[in-house]
Amino acid sequence: MEIKMAFQPKTVEEVKDLLSKYSNSKLLAGGTDLVLGLRSEKEMAEYLIDMGKIPELKNITNDEKQVTLGSMVTFTQLRESELIRENFNSLFECAKHMGSPQIRNAATIGGNIVNAGSAADAIPCIMSLNGILIIESNDETRQISCVDYFKNYSKEKINEKEILTKIIIPKKNEKSGYYKLGKRNALAIARINSAICLYINEGIIMRISLALGAVGRYPFRSVELEKQAKGKKLEWLYGDEALSIIENDVYESIKGRKTMPFKKEAIKGVYKEALRNALVNR
Ligand SMILES: Cc1cc2nc3c(=O)[nH]c(=O)nc-3n(C[C@H](O)[C@H](O)[C@H](O)COP(=O)(O)OP(=O)(O)OC[C@H]3O[C@@H](n4cnc5c(N)ncnc54)[C@H](O)[C@@H]3O)c2cc1C
Repeated sequence: MEIKMAFQPKTVEEVKDLLSKYSNSKLLAGGTDLVLGLRSEKEMAEYLIDMGKIPELKNITNDEKQVTLGSMVTFTQLRESELIRENFNSLFECAKHMGSPQIRNAATIGGNIVNAGSAADAIPCIMSLNGILIIESNDETRQISCVDYFKNYSKEKINEKEILTKIIIPKKNEKSGYYKLGKRNALAIARINSAICLYINEGIIMRISLALGAVGRYPFRSVELEKQAKGKKLEWLYGDEALSIIENDVYESIKGRKTMPFKKEAIKGVYKEALRNALVNR
């Protein structure tokens, strides 16, 4: 399929109008996934809508309760943002190790989420930080947690008339960390990754959220670990009980796959590194 036309709208409203007018169109963010997809013909489009000229999608904004990321915020912006570093260490850490400098300059957080790769770096971070996705079209604006979006992906998946405009992350004063095990560190898309977020009071776990990536079709939260950990001492997180819950999550998620025996062992080390990363940082 040939590209017939490319548009460069300047506002989100224009994007929504274009999406409703032209079927067979694709939104272009940084292009690091889409261009490869179009070249290999895994993706098809007649119209391209380039979002590179929409200032409102490129902002990181902050108020007392939350930080809002425009969907066109790049990994370089995340890596260079003092606000992100101070509030969401996991996201900062993921941006630091994502791709190469050239990829980070182009690749956006919105593209990472919408592309929905099993090993996408940002998704476990946004999941564990309880991020909310704002998805808009001419018909409606919907708001859905990143966790629910991927839990019910076939139902909630963004449709061809919709644009992901923002990701809202609540500020909860929690510690967060991220770790990925890649084939070749920075240039490798993660083989396994994990993001964690926790609030500890006097050595007791008050809240915890743990997301695991590249161990299933989509990243997911370890609901059982989160339930069992609450009210326990911090040391519990390093013990056999916690590790076997995570191992079992991975076993259940990818049983039957060739990679399962390796991944169910490796995930324990990846999780411990993410935890360490959270605890050594602010
Ligand atoms: C060499 C290389 C290294 C890479 N390394 C990593 C890595 O370490 N970690 C990692 O996670 N990924 C990696 N990737 C994958 C890729 O860079 C990321 O997934 C990136 O975040 C995609 O963002 P983008 O802005 O380039 O999206 P695009 O390629 O522009 O878009 C991807 C898809 O999302 C859709 N889309 C984009 N934005 C929106 C929106 N706002 N609303 C609705 N739909 C939208 C597009 O239509 C398209 O279907 C790598 C890719 C390459 C080529």
